[in-house]
Amino acid sequence: MTQPTSSQAYQELLFAGLPDFEPGSVWLVGAGPGDRGLMTLHAVNAMRQADVIIYDALIDEADLAFAKPDVVTEYAGKRGGRPSSNQQDITLRLIELAREGKRVLRLKGGDPFIFGRGGEEALALSEAKVPFRIVPGITAGIGGLSYAGIPATYREINQSVTFLTGHDRTGSVPSALDWDAVAKGSQVIVMYMAMKHLSSITQKLLDGGRRPEEGAAIVCNATTTNQQVLVATLGTIAEKTKAANLQPPALVVIGDVVHLRERLDWYTAMALPQE
Ligand code: SAH
Repeated sequence: MTQPTSSQAYQELLFAGLPDFEPGSVWLVGAGPGDRGLMTLHAVNAMRQADVIIYDALIDEADLAFAKPDVVTEYAGKRGGRPSSNQQDITLRLIELAREGKRVLRLKGGDPFIFGRGGEEALALSEAKVPFRIVPGITAGIGGLSYAGIPATYREINQSVTFLTGHDRTGSVPSALDWDAVAKGSQVIVMYMAMKHLSSITQKLLDGGRRPEEGAAIVCNATTTNQQVLVATLGTIAEKTKAANLQPPALVVIGDVVHLRERLDWYTAMALPQE
């Protein structure tokens, strides 16, 4: 094997064999949880070819610099409190741009198929017969936990992990979830969008039989330089989160895997000045 000798040759090698972005198609791409190093090669390959990038609130705008110089970028975020920046409009815009013959990149935080409405957008594209590709990304519930030094599974502690969302389309605690069943059946629970209703959610889990002294943590801005982690117990996490005035985006983890952070917090350790 010959190693590339120039950075140009290196780049060519890096992207060799990755797909061409066909004009008139849409790629739904996950950008990962925040740290640019967690983007996939497919994501970067998409960015360097796209004509238009429609991106979400969770995307770091600095990362759009990977795109072509004449790229058009459109913000389609949903910022807390405000109702969704009309999902229908976003979907129609994707279809419209594709029909104009553009290479349309829909860039989303984490993974597009995990609580990201990627499924809805893909279905609409399928119905409109617009060709599309899905590029998975590292979801916050996995990448964020790693950066917090909390293994999502640990052999002695759990044999399963549950991802759930703390609010449904109406903005309330999801009523379609059987909270008693979650409390009984989910050894480790990783919650997205759970900050707003944290006290009622933790109460539902306690009512379902979970121990108040069980480990719990909240990870804000996971994988970014502003990452903040608060460790508490199921009984105290809601109150402590409020007192610390933590802000979303945040993940909440319930389960005794949280205690491993004490020994596995590599991220804080790396940020400390070396002796
Ligand atoms: N598709 C995304 C999730 C979108 S829903 C994914 O796979 O990660 C938005 C929620 O994801 C936020 O409210 C928060 O709960 C979580 N989230 C996304 N990025 C995060 C981050 N960097 N730190 C903490 N939570 C994050």
